[in-house]
Amino acid sequence: MRPARLKPQNPEVAPELAPLERAGILLPLPLAGAYDYKLPRGVNAARGLVVAAPLGNRETMGVIWGAAEGAVGDNRLKVAEPLAGAPALPLGLCDFVDWVADYTLSPPGAILAMALRSRGAFEPEALRTAYIKGDTVPSRMSEARKRVLAVAEDGLARSVSGLAEDANVTPAVVRGLITAGALVTTQLPEFSSFKDPEPDYAAPVLNDDQAQAAKRLREAVAQKSFSAHLLDGVTGSGKTEVYFEALAQTLRQGKQALILLPEIALTVQFLERFAARFGVRPAEWHSDLSARERRRTYRAVMKGEVKVLVGARSALFLPFTELGLIIVDEEHEQAFKQQEGAIYHARDMAVVRARIEKCPLVLSSATPSLESFLNAGSGRYTHLKLLARHGAAEMPKVQIVDLRQENNEEGAKWLSAPLRAAITQTLAAGEQAMLFLNRRGYAPLTLCQSCGHKLTCPHCSSWLVEHRYRKRLACHQCGYEIAAPNACPECKAEGALIACGPGVERVAEEFAHFFPEARYAIASSDMMHGPAETQSAIRAMGRQEIDVLIGTQIVAKGHHFPQLTLVGIIDADLGGSDGDLRARERTFQLLHQVSGRAGRAEKPGLVLLQTRNPADAVMQALASNNRDDFYAQEAEFRERAGAPPYGRLAAVIVSGYDAEKVRETARQLGQAAPAAKDVKVWGPTPAFYALLRGQTRERLLVSAAKSVDVQAYMRAWLTQVKTPTQVRVTVDVDPISFF
Ligand code: ADP
Ligand code: ZN
Repeated sequence: MRPARLKPQNPEVAPELAPLERAGILLPLPLAGAYDYKLPRGVNAARGLVVAAPLGNRETMGVIWGAAEGAVGDNRLKVAEPLAGAPALPLGLCDFVDWVADYTLSPPGAILAMALRSRGAFEPEALRTAYIKGDTVPSRMSEARKRVLAVAEDGLARSVSGLAEDANVTPAVVRGLITAGALVTTQLPEFSSFKDPEPDYAAPVLNDDQAQAAKRLREAVAQKSFSAHLLDGVTGSGKTEVYFEALAQTLRQGKQALILLPEIALTVQFLERFAARFGVRPAEWHSDLSARERRRTYRAVMKGEVKVLVGARSALFLPFTELGLIIVDEEHEQAFKQQEGAIYHARDMAVVRARIEKCPLVLSSATPSLESFLNAGSGRYTHLKLLARHGAAEMPKVQIVDLRQENNEEGAKWLSAPLRAAITQTLAAGEQAMLFLNRRGYAPLTLCQSCGHKLTCPHCSSWLVEHRYRKRLACHQCGYEIAAPNACPECKAEGALIACGPGVERVAEEFAHFFPEARYAIASSDMMHGPAETQSAIRAMGRQEIDVLIGTQIVAKGHHFPQLTLVGIIDADLGGSDGDLRARERTFQLLHQVSGRAGRAEKPGLVLLQTRNPADAVMQALASNNRDDFYAQEAEFRERAGAPPYGRLAAVIVSGYDAEKVRETARQLGQAAPAAKDVKVWGPTPAFYALLRGQTRERLLVSAAKSVDVQAYMRAWLTQVKTPTQVRVTVDVDPISFF
């Protein structure tokens, strides 16, 4: 759709003849920078003004970014025109776009595209029809008609149903009056229908720790300046209740607030909890919104009509005009890192936006990222601690089961004797259990016993995962699937293929074998029938229609099951051994989160941790509930390695379908890396997924001292190599994983 234009202010002067101002206009496209355009006479060329700009033989939306730069004569420049109503992006958002582009080495237009997520929001608003009293007196008058006209006497515009309701008549009566001309049409803007949350709707009585933390946050909000706070408390300690108090203060000051959640935590339960505290649901922003909801929400945020918005990471790029607070809940979550397109970390960029908007930032977690933890330790962030669970609930007891000592007497492969005994006890007591394994499907690897062939994806360097219910083998990277074969595709031996290792489906199979009477369900992100099945499994658990929930990561967070007293972690070593810098930290965070599901109410919880490395620091920290020692050890380890946050990293990923060209480009990049003090460049080496969705991938890694301007180094380096069009070079500043 062609955007509507602002009417020329002086229609008798043809635009070509009018003297024109020029401006640099940023287009939401991955181009190197702003382009120069002319503007119609009389337009105030202010940064942020949204325009329609011709580009080639089409037209695109753009934003006035700054002064024109080029020396091109006026006659060669095309004319960009402001949109109807002259909408403009807030300056804070423009500055934020520049900052993110600069930091992530992305074309600014690619970041602008994220800030213009709803193009429809800039089109003229749809109007809705409403009615007011007209001058005609109807020839026939009834009691019902009189009532309607009496209501309309106040001159306010109402819909048919609104009038019918207020006058207590049927809509037919109102329509009759419209036909008779006694009511006439008028046009109103679409309802915003975002009601203001009430700060004092249902405030809780806080315990001492909570009250103290809440007071600090209220003061920070009142200061109306940048500050950062780590809200650090065990699961169930009331972190949400505490940051709600900061929100209430923001509302009292008439400002806007943004709550960022990992997409998976953005649940109906959270919205309802918010509504219970503030009287209405907050506005939402996530990938499931319809174009219409997106448009409505975007507009209302820009007009300041949305006071509180809860969203996934992309909400950080919304046009807030008076932001007074940003909260990042579960701040340690990897999901805040966007890995595709423009690569950025929403938690880190939230710090930047808060600085630009001059407002406080709250990072909340039971297991903070090491970065945030150290920032709190050094005083850059205030450290607000909630040490105990609210009310009677205690932290669960964590016991290690040493799998090396288990002899699997009864043919059990994944459920050790102590775990089976604990399950028996839990079921006998009428309580619930959760078994956790962070692996989807039945088995991660299918192997031919006859020739040793492993079934792999033809498009990715990854194994095919067996999904036994569906009788399929699937690649979890690209979605490639085949029917589970009978014969080995390599040596054609019949019946020689065996499943290696467990996925949740296989754990469930063994569970059903040992506990034939128990009611259980599997929750995994790719169950046979998709997310609906997972939701129903979780609901069944909440209603105690099942005794045991067997699940992947999807069951780790957020859920509150009062009768859940036992958590069994099937393989605590999973994910800890891939040499990734943050693997240990992540394992700790995930297992801690899962453990936190046990004993959330009065009944004490027990966690059994099955491992082959009982002496490992992660296991010890979990078992002794001594998180801070683990963090200290992890910090020391990273400091010695010069790794983040003590040093800086940036990755370069070279990818493409032409393997030769990819390798050649990567090799040239490796050779072109300039020598610089305190900078080392590693690689190129094949990436962890050396083949992904058919593309060959090579990686280079820059490791630098903290004092080094990594962005400047990268710019100087990457411009030296000409990339063939078939090859893509992607930069990941501060990489958190190394796939
Ligand atoms: P966290 O965010 O730290 O996991 P929550 O804020 O979800 O903790 O609190 C855990 C549970 O305890 C919730 O059901 C919450 O409503 C309740 N709770 C926490 N603090 C209070 C309080 N001061 N008064 C009443 N209920 C509380
Ligand atoms: Zn694949």
